[in-house]
Amino acid sequence: MIATDKNFLHQISIETTRKEVDGLGLVFKLREANKTAWTKGCGLAAIQIGMPLRFAWYLLEGKEGQLLNPVIINKWGEDIAQEGCLSIPCNYTSVKRAYEIEYLTNGKKKRARGLLARLIQHEIDHMDGILIIDKRAD
Ligand SMILES: [Zn+2]
Repeated sequence: MIATDKNFLHQISIETTRKEVDGLGLVFKLREANKTAWTKGCGLAAIQIGMPLRFAWYLLEGKEGQLLNPVIINKWGEDIAQEGCLSIPCNYTSVKRAYEIEYLTNGKKKRARGLLARLIQHEIDHMDGILIIDKRAD
């Protein structure tokens, strides 16, 4: 079940640990929620299934990934594109994002660009209580 309550989704998620994520079975739950959602999404943050923790799972172009306490440390470029959100059924919004980012996940430094960078910024926004409808660019 994916949360759609705006007040709930506007809260800031708290840091978590690998142990807590595993104990709650978050990867399994996020994967299942994505399968049964109103449309096929490419990522979900824990808050979207009712757990305001800084964790997200994604499936992009056949590759699964996770974000554990992610933090963006560098951004390059700018890009505006339409985004959807599994918590906001049937609403596509133009959102401005950095084109390329350098970020920490589980304390490790990584880099992403294009769609993956957009997805990561979308999920981190969820962890900060920000939805696409809060930052439409058009
Ligand atoms: Zn979303």
